[in-house]
Amino acid sequence: MPSRLSNRTLTLDEPLHDYLLTYGVRESPAQQALREMTRTHEWAVMQICPEQGAFMQMFVRILGARRAIEVGVFTGYSTLCVAQALPGDGYLLACDISDEYTRLGRPHWQQAGVAHKIDLRLAPAIETLDASLAAGQAEQFDFAFIDADKVNYDAYYERCLALLRVGGVIAVDNVLWNGAVTRPAETESTAALQALNRKLHADSRIDLSMLPIGDGLTLARKR
Ligand code: CA
Repeated sequence: MPSRLSNRTLTLDEPLHDYLLTYGVRESPAQQALREMTRTHEWAVMQICPEQGAFMQMFVRILGARRAIEVGVFTGYSTLCVAQALPGDGYLLACDISDEYTRLGRPHWQQAGVAHKIDLRLAPAIETLDASLAAGQAEQFDFAFIDADKVNYDAYYERCLALLRVGGVIAVDNVLWNGAVTRPAETESTAALQALNRKLHADSRIDLSMLPIGDGLTLARKR
């Protein structure tokens, strides 16, 4: 019997994290290339980690999702993960305001053969989501990933919840915010995340699980 069994989530040191990446993640060549390209970007910390990408792909497949939403594309690694997990006729509504960043990902979406599934909308995501609702798309989506400006998370959450079918799931990223959520908020982003975490915990419209993967990922399943 190991000497130090733990019933808490492990803190991963460098060797254990490398082990996790070696045996716990399978990336396509396009995913590897896109992650490597983004690694040196000044905002590289905004990219989800590979184990989170693998988890989201597995989750999308288990969910049997065909239609998904992404709020916050950055250079498109998470977009690529989700798009690869959708079926051939799947649809991913990808919302971002930056042509500069999303442009970096697009060749890799092509390389992976999933670009035809991705509908990239360069506009404030609230506008894109409201337009989808106005076009009668309520309850027409299976999965949503929210990973953008934190002060608007609640607005994104409410719109995604309306766009999801019953049983669909919203994944909300950065909910642990590098630990800052446990301390008095020093930024608007921290305050917004704290408020959303409190709200979701009490929200009877969803089933809830907050995962300590990456920077914290809350799964909210629409009841
Ligand atoms: Ca994030």
